[in-house]
Amino acid sequence: VAALGAVEPPLLSQVSATLRAVTGCEVGRLPELARPAYAFNKDRAQFHVAAILRRLAALRGKEAAVPVLGVTDADLFVPDAPFVFGESDRSELAAVVSVARLRGEPPVEAELLLRRISAEAMHQLGHLIGLLHCQDARCAMFQAQRVADVDRKRPGLCGTCRTAAGLTE
Ligand SMILES: [Zn+2]
Ligand SMILES: [Zn+2]
Repeated sequence: VAALGAVEPPLLSQVSATLRAVTGCEVGRLPELARPAYAFNKDRAQFHVAAILRRLAALRGKEAAVPVLGVTDADLFVPDAPFVFGESDRSELAAVVSVARLRGEPPVEAELLLRRISAEAMHQLGHLIGLLHCQDARCAMFQAQRVADVDRKRPGLCGTCRTAAGLTE
C-alpha cells in the first residue's frame, strides 16, 4: 500500500488493516509517493488512471507476485467514464483508489470515509487476486456506480467470492 500525495494516515492504516483482515496476508507500507501530477488531464481537471497504474507497476520491480495498491485524494478518470472510485490492472498487479468522490460534500465523518475507502480498496485488490464483479450488494466486489452503492457494501467479501479467491473462512 502506498499513498500518492498527502493522505490522512488513518486512511492508510484502515485500508491496510482491512486488506490484512480479509485476505489473511501481510500488508506492507511503501514510502509516500508524489501526488500524480504526471497523470493530470487539464481538459478534465482529473487524473488519468492508466498513467498512475503504470507508475505503480514499475514500483514493484522484480517482486512480481506482490500486488501494489495506491491510495490518493486525486480525482480519477478513465476515458469512457466521468470518474472512477478506483481501477486495477490485473496483469500488472497494480491498483489505485481515490477518496475524492468518497469524501462527499460536505465531507462525511471520518469513520464513514474509512469504511468507504476500505471497501473500494478491497474491491480493487479483489480484482488483482482474480475476482470478478459480484451481484451481492453487500460484498466488496459489487460494482459501485454511486456512493450510495459503496455505503451498502461491507469491506469484506461474500462467501462465494471468498471461495473463488481461495480464501478460507
Ligand atoms: Zn470492479
Ligand atoms: Zn461477492
